[in-house]
Amino acid sequence: MQLKDYLGQEKIIASLKQAVDNNELSHAYLFVGPEGSGKRTLADIFAKMVLCKGEGEKPCELCNACLTVDAGSNFDVIDVVAEKLRLNPKGSKTISVDDIRERVTASVSIKPNGDKKIYILDGAEKMDAKAQNALLKTLEEPPEYVIIILISSSKEAMLQTIMSRVLCYEFKPVETARIENYLVNKKQIPSHIARMSARFSQGVVGEAILFALSDEFEEERKKVVELVSKIDRMTAEDILSYASVYKASSTAKKEEKDDGEKPKRGAKTAEKAERRELRSRTDDFLDLLELFFRDIFVYKGSENDELISFSDDLMIVREVAEEKSAEAIAHILDAIREAKARIKANLPMDGVMEMLLLKMRER
Ligand SMILES: [Zn+2]
Repeated sequence: MQLKDYLGQEKIIASLKQAVDNNELSHAYLFVGPEGSGKRTLADIFAKMVLCKGEGEKPCELCNACLTVDAGSNFDVIDVVAEKLRLNPKGSKTISVDDIRERVTASVSIKPNGDKKIYILDGAEKMDAKAQNALLKTLEEPPEYVIIILISSSKEAMLQTIMSRVLCYEFKPVETARIENYLVNKKQIPSHIARMSARFSQGVVGEAILFALSDEFEEERKKVVELVSKIDRMTAEDILSYASVYKASSTAKKEEKDDGEKPKRGAKTAEKAERRELRSRTDDFLDLLELFFRDIFVYKGSENDELISFSDDLMIVREVAEEKSAEAIAHILDAIREAKARIKANLPMDGVMEMLLLKMRER
């Protein structure tokens, strides 16, 4: 990605630029922040800044160094775990001491083609203590041409000895109005989806883009609106059948009963994957439902359309805000938060949903 298309983290960018311009580069950096906050993208942009051979402002985005970094084919930029992920796309949970030895220690003394050699280690929080200690050796006495960029979703996962050797940059949430604008102008997302995705992302740009482009997200949004518009007319049977969709299937268990043998591993794995998928959809659904009722609550108090995230569904927001008391809306918000906590505690999702719908229907 080009620097001009990158949204947010201006302070970090300014500081990195200054280091490049004044030739005051550190040997090791830690980019830390939530998944989707643009750490990896900025690491690539930083690599371009460092290696760029263009005149004037860096990265020039035109020289060979800039273009090869973007294409992932620059020999002086080493993606430490890319190979591992390519071989096993589902991803191993840890980065081991062997990974560090093979991908860093073994090659660190080989001189770069250009002036600098940049190691990017995405997922640094997955290094166990042994791996971090192996890396520490390189961090303590790096060859002068080496720059290591660690990318981590958690500062706490890093050893104190590592922390004391890196320059740490924390990625901050971006204002949702700016994300909304970015989605509309740079990604051509319809404005009502852009607004909702931006607010739903809580300032994490990568998440907002994912939401905005996801069909499932749009589907869940429609389901939320549909449910709210008909909940007061639903009978107890309707609610039961609505909630039953959230029952995790138990194909593996059935198999076990039928032939008296343990279920095959494949069936078990498939069941797990299915449950995870249902769980993630349910989480999104409840988050959206909460956002929707927050809209209703806010509208009730302000009657201001501008504050509404579900801008495509203003009619229903107004309608429900008019119908229900502030107290009843607050009561529903509590019930949604309670349902989220129960699902987090691994209670059966269909039971949780049933209870939630019954509470939403109470007056
Ligand atoms: Zn360049």
